Amino acid sequence: MMRLITMRFLPGLKCLCRRISYDICRRGSPVYGRLYAGQWMRSCSRTSESTKESDHDNRMLKHLISKIKSTGPISVAEYMREVLTNPITGYYYYRDVLGAQGDFITSPEISQIFGELLGVWCVSEWMAAGKPKTFQLVELGPGRGTLASDVLRVFSQLRSVLRESEISVHLVEVSPKLGEVQAQLLTEGEQHLLHDPSAAIYKMGTTKTGLPISWYRDLQDVPKGFSFYLAHEFFDVLPIHKFQKTKQGWREILIDIEPKAPKKLRFVLAPSGTLASKTLIQRNDERDHVEICPEAGVIIQSLASRITEDGGAALIADYGHNGTKTDTFRGFHGHQLHEVLTAPGTADLTADVDFSYLRQMTEGKVTSLGPIEQQQFLKNMGIDVRLQVLLRNVSDPATHQKLIDAYDMIMNPEKMGKRFKFFALLPHNRLMSGAGMKTEKHGATAPPVAGFSELQL
Ligand code: SAH
Repeated sequence: MMRLITMRFLPGLKCLCRRISYDICRRGSPVYGRLYAGQWMRSCSRTSESTKESDHDNRMLKHLISKIKSTGPISVAEYMREVLTNPITGYYYYRDVLGAQGDFITSPEISQIFGELLGVWCVSEWMAAGKPKTFQLVELGPGRGTLASDVLRVFSQLRSVLRESEISVHLVEVSPKLGEVQAQLLTEGEQHLLHDPSAAIYKMGTTKTGLPISWYRDLQDVPKGFSFYLAHEFFDVLPIHKFQKTKQGWREILIDIEPKAPKKLRFVLAPSGTLASKTLIQRNDERDHVEICPEAGVIIQSLASRITEDGGAALIADYGHNGTKTDTFRGFHGHQLHEVLTAPGTADLTADVDFSYLRQMTEGKVTSLGPIEQQQFLKNMGIDVRLQVLLRNVSDPATHQKLIDAYDMIMNPEKMGKRFKFFALLPHNRLMSGAGMKTEKHGATAPPVAGFSELQL
């Protein structure tokens, strides 16, 4: 049952939303989303990149074919890892793949309100945690840095609330190209940063709002400490293994070379159990096809340990399901669905996040909330009030319409409102006493977690 948050329980949220200014930030055309191809998706002209892409495409395909020739068919996880993050030809490495000119666009790119509300969520949880003096904002897979930029703008506007807090920013990003794009947006530019490509912290500097910022390839290199971890459309690009139920038991789906067309790839079933099929599958799963992402398991466990040891919270937003879906592996190129084994390296590869798996991996360590639909989460965070504030402050009809279209794209259940979900990890003691009861520590009412309960303004 959805609980109601009344202002009696959550005096901070409305007040925080009111204190954010009404600056309108420029955004691209809000007509795309990385969802199944729908009527609102249309292909973009990418002619200037096409020659480069076909070279790139050949290199990745050649690389995969020679790998399969030398070691045999590869797992879908290995295929995804190579195609997306191989440091020589990986999809994410050398291109800015987001936005109207890229292959997909995401909620923070569509509407500034999205990131602003996530910023408010962090501040609200910081208050609930007793306003620790020092905290880190950690984002996994920050794309163009737009979400971080909107969150940091909120932190800056809520300076009087955050007072003397020492805040630092930590971005976990494997793509040197996207790292550059993030630095352009969040700092005074690449030339003002310290670079050390071979180090765990490969870039450092100061944000435009005056906070220390660092880049890492791996979460394990981010310093420990009270942190807010954000991951938007990050878990869906992590490599999955695919399994098929057969009469002989579960078999892993692998990728091999098509015998009749040596430059084509195809799916095959492993003839016997693989290490992955022996260790990852739950024997009692009723589905006949499952996708499992062990890397997501490792990352979520690491987030849970960090939150248990040092405090903070994680907010994960992605498209996904609760352990019910089967085959969700797909590709996107130019805002269109793309056949996953064709022209590897030129398209984004993704699979729905299994939130039940994430929950299972953290059980006992932390409290998890969600998954809750994006539409509901943002409504609970006060998106309608925020939209009205912005609309009241624009006179230009085109900008007015853009704000409404962007809201519709991220909220409409037929678009991104239902398919995208929010999931949070919190320390056990955060909710121990429940709403309306006394906390052991402060003897006061524990505020419910913003976004996960209905807000009555
Ligand atoms: N969060 C952004 C971008 C989503 S795209 C948004 O919503 O707009 C996925 C992001 O994750 C990209 O920045 C990509 O470079 C990064 N990424 C992909 N695999 C990664 C990995 N294994 N480790 C760290 N970052 C990764």
